Amino acid sequence: MSVKPLGLDPAQCFIGGDWCDPVSGGTLTLINPSDGSPLCEIAKGNAQDIDRAVAAAHDALAGPWGRSTAVERARILSRLGQLVLEHADELARLEALDVGKPLKQAHADVVALARYMEFYAGAADKIHGSTIPYMNGYTVYTLRQPHGVTGHIVPWNYPMQIIGRSVGAALTMGNACVLKPAEEACLTALAFTELARQAGLPAGVLNTVPGLGAEAGAALSEHADVQHISFTGSVGVGKLIQKSAGENVVPVTLELGGKSPQLVFDDADIEAALPFLVNAGIQNAGQTCSASSRILVQRGVYDRVVEGMAARYAKLVAGPALDDFDVGPLVSARQKSIVEGFLTQGADLKVAAQGRIVDDAPDGGAYVAPTLFENVSHDHALAQDEIFGPVQTIIPFDDEADALAIANGTKYGLVASVWSDSGARQMRLAKALRAGQVFINNYGAGGGVELPFGGTGLSGHGREKGFEALYGFSTLKTVAALHG
Ligand code: NAD
Repeated sequence: MSVKPLGLDPAQCFIGGDWCDPVSGGTLTLINPSDGSPLCEIAKGNAQDIDRAVAAAHDALAGPWGRSTAVERARILSRLGQLVLEHADELARLEALDVGKPLKQAHADVVALARYMEFYAGAADKIHGSTIPYMNGYTVYTLRQPHGVTGHIVPWNYPMQIIGRSVGAALTMGNACVLKPAEEACLTALAFTELARQAGLPAGVLNTVPGLGAEAGAALSEHADVQHISFTGSVGVGKLIQKSAGENVVPVTLELGGKSPQLVFDDADIEAALPFLVNAGIQNAGQTCSASSRILVQRGVYDRVVEGMAARYAKLVAGPALDDFDVGPLVSARQKSIVEGFLTQGADLKVAAQGRIVDDAPDGGAYVAPTLFENVSHDHALAQDEIFGPVQTIIPFDDEADALAIANGTKYGLVASVWSDSGARQMRLAKALRAGQVFINNYGAGGGVELPFGGTGLSGHGREKGFEALYGFSTLKTVAALHG
């Protein structure tokens, strides 16, 4: 099968308003993780393609885009959101084939992509500076302006959502973007780029160059003419990106995953919690930066939570993405072997329950049975390291202080949730938990595009989503006029 997103040749880059071959003429093969078969060839962009893309973005900023009004940009984003919804089935199918996520999850990602466009379109003309009371004879005000050319290095786990939240915000503020999608999954990045063209985005405002991280990705993050870098992915690459941004002295937003806990207290509504406890670990086969891989449970409800989660795990089935099982394959054979390595490290742990892989799953698929470990010590590797697979650990705790110490006791700090009936405890922990988002008696709050998102510690820094993203993708200028 050779997949053609929106009828496009997937082996091309999009630079300066045109689909074009990469300079090297080279290609990479995309693999369908549901069965291991090749999906199509994609462009193997390199440093020269990135150079052309950055130059095209600067040309766009020197043209009408650089003078565009917020309303003009909002109208384009609005049309783009509409086009995304009109192509929902194809986009969802592409994401399911490419990433391996079950079709209904891929559909939810399409809706999220459209919501980003709708939200940012609506917000575009509500972002403004302020006037500052100052000495007599002065008028002082601030202007929010684009950084210039922004680089977006996107991973394979949620291509549509991550492109929506970062490229969408950058365009809203009038930046021109260079997008480097992941080499494992870039079909919806290509489709989104084409829809942006159809929505009327001027040439050079969004340039998309697929390629290897170490080639196209590094070239983009090291480029001296890029004024902001947004990266989502692994901690190791995040550190490299931060170093290059340091060399060029440009701001960087890093979203590097986590080891996010849910804290379940004796006074919690356990029946309400159970579906969240499990879904937050297995959604997208656990390949979610904000996956909840640690379930911290107070001893008084420990057995109930273990039994309830185990009963749900026992019903989980992993299978091909288009057949829409609870869990799809992992994105690649490589990711599968990383996760299997963690399962081997957990050989000394007690398995509370496992889901199963559907009987006729294709041999070449990257399937891992969802696995729930119980009574895990807080300092075990499975309770400390990001696994990025459908694996959760249950960790018992005694009291609130114990729970907080365990919850904050990793190098990460992305998301946390508190399950408790006590308002005072909810408020205390919301303040004390080391995380960019805290949920009370839920997990994820439906992933709303309005909710600022980002981490602390090894989870990264900077905020995307919501209005915060628009501040992050712009720079503030102070104007002081002396007029007497
Ligand atoms: P990765 O960090 O290598 O890749 C993410 C993106 O960075 C891709 O577009 C890739 O091409 C690019 N990249 C890779 N090397 C680069 C470099 N030297 N310079 C610039 N860009 C570069 O992630 P991965 O190897 O695909 O996954 C490995 C692990 O990373 C996973 O097991 C998981 O723990 C973590 N991860 C986290 C997230 C997240 O959402 N936070 C997403 C993907 C992976």
